[in-house]
Amino acid sequence: MNKLAQSLNTIKAARYIEQSLKVQIIARYTELPEKYLRTLVKELTGRAPSSGRLITSQRLFRNKRTITACILFVSIYLRFDEQQTKEVDLEILSNAYEQFTKQALLSETLNHQQCSFTINDAWVLINAYKDKVIQLSPCPCGNAKLVSQDIQVDERCWFCGR
Ligand SMILES: [Zn+2]
Repeated sequence: MNKLAQSLNTIKAARYIEQSLKVQIIARYTELPEKYLRTLVKELTGRAPSSGRLITSQRLFRNKRTITACILFVSIYLRFDEQQTKEVDLEILSNAYEQFTKQALLSETLNHQQCSFTINDAWVLINAYKDKVIQLSPCPCGNAKLVSQDIQVDERCWFCGR
């Protein structure tokens, strides 16, 4: 990678780090070495990068609040994802997460301690969506339901109960 590309990727990485995206994910997309990114995390946050594993898709759908968060996030992501690429686009993920955070703050259901939904969760979610593990299905009430053939999800519509 030349110096210019490295600088541009470092600026992108800094934004993802501010959103607490995991170093391994940032490394995969920016092609910056993990060691370099770890140093960047310390410089920007004053802390070591968090270890911890990624959430499983099943855990994403553990309660009504998190399912609501997932439906909202997929809807926002799809609005930004005009090309409908096969891979998750990190730039879109980051923009969508910013938008999600603003909307979640205004929502009684989502602005709640039982509803943590991090950008890393969002990354797992959109991968599951792109792999067709989960799908959005329109409900007659006008909202969307989350459906899956691969994992157990409560497929009732959270808005009207159908
Ligand atoms: Zn409904």
